[in-house]
Amino acid sequence: MRVVEIDKNICTGCRECAKVCPAYAIEGEQGEPQTINTDKCVMCGQCVQKCKSYVSIVTHGYEAYDKVRKERGIPESVKEPLFAAHNVTHIDEVKKALADPTKVVMASAAPAVRTGLAEEFGYKLGTLSNGKMAAAFRALGFDYIYDVNFAADLTIMEEGSELIERVTTGKGKLPMFTSCCPAWVTFLERNYPELSDHLSSCKSPQQMQGAVQKTYGAELRGLKKKDIFNVSVMPCTCKEFECSREEMNASGERDIDVVITTRELAWLIKDAGIDFKSLKEEEFDKPLGEFTGAGEIFGATGGVMEAALRTGYELITGKEIPDVKIPSVRGGEGFRTADIKVGDLTLKVGVVSGLKHVVQVLEDVKAGKLNHFHFIEVMTCPVGCVSGGGQPKLLMDTDKETAYYNRTHTTYKMDEELPIRKSHDNPSIKKIYKEFLKNPLGEKSHHLLHTHYVKGPAKTVK
Ligand code: SF4
Ligand code: SF4
Repeated sequence: MRVVEIDKNICTGCRECAKVCPAYAIEGEQGEPQTINTDKCVMCGQCVQKCKSYVSIVTHGYEAYDKVRKERGIPESVKEPLFAAHNVTHIDEVKKALADPTKVVMASAAPAVRTGLAEEFGYKLGTLSNGKMAAAFRALGFDYIYDVNFAADLTIMEEGSELIERVTTGKGKLPMFTSCCPAWVTFLERNYPELSDHLSSCKSPQQMQGAVQKTYGAELRGLKKKDIFNVSVMPCTCKEFECSREEMNASGERDIDVVITTRELAWLIKDAGIDFKSLKEEEFDKPLGEFTGAGEIFGATGGVMEAALRTGYELITGKEIPDVKIPSVRGGEGFRTADIKVGDLTLKVGVVSGLKHVVQVLEDVKAGKLNHFHFIEVMTCPVGCVSGGGQPKLLMDTDKETAYYNRTHTTYKMDEELPIRKSHDNPSIKKIYKEFLKNPLGEKSHHLLHTHYVKGPAKTVK
């Protein structure tokens, strides 16, 4: 399926994108238009962030610009430059669903989206826009405003329990790898299929959110799941691929109907003539929009690990964790390791940020050199999802660095300010287990929240 493309009529062949491509998927001679080798591409969108060759109304004139805009299905109201490397947009599908009276349209956004969205409206890099984002969804006409942060908490319940099971019973491969990042999962499936048993069987938060919105969410609201249209907003270009995988229909329908990026949400808001700055902050709908600080920090590298440790510690020891803040797993690009004392157990954990750094880790796992590790988090983008390929695009490298720093800082500040900071303490998480899922790793959880992996390219239905 088409996710990320290079427009050969605009590409100058500078090959700047090839320098950031973690999968060595961009091919062509210097000075010639480049092509993406789709067998290698993991759809991370880092080339989209990097490309500086564009067509604009100012430089190239209305006619040339309009031709490209139309070819890409971008609304007429968008006037920003259109770059050679770009992701395929799906905002028409969202507009169609919002205009369809037979559809109940549900929104959910990933943790990192709220750290980048405001930048599209002239705010300082990394400004938090949680409440304004919820208000914008309502103003756009979404029927329910839920949150992938809720499913991030749900992921911790399932993934934390899975880790404990693997560590304490010896069932399942160690080290266990996180499975939230679809570009990473794709990379492993295609290049190291023999290690796929090391991946957690948990679906990503996006796919868990979609599955519960169309089952438990439908039941709560007295809706038919076939009438629900789930729109997911992501900082990531690969998420549209993930939702299109053929197995992502545990609810009996497509669990997520369409994915748009942070940038495309901004286009939708501008296209609808909504004045983002004057929006009053609003709340997300409960229960599927209630979240904790642990869910929020999924957006930064080390966040999934820290959130899992906060819950894992208390599940294993039965005692309150002395400090929810675990600085040893936070940080920038590369492979970081830490020993975490959990009662009598010492958990050996690792965090990889930036897919280029994972190859050595995988080779070491293959060679048996990392058998003493229990859990490794892997994120494809440089400092996690806050630096995702679908986030607002910044041309200057210095701005990018500032944005990554500020978006990360915003993520952790929000965690500190939230009243609940551990996933298992989220009242809505307790409610969904009590009323619907029953137990982590139980039958319903396995059906809706867990998945299997393929050895090679995954099949998609779009
Ligand atoms: S989307 Fe990512 S993997 Fe694909 S070509 Fe671009 S940078 Fe490379
Ligand atoms: S896609 Fe953009 S960054 Fe890549 S070679 Fe072409 S012009 Fe350069």
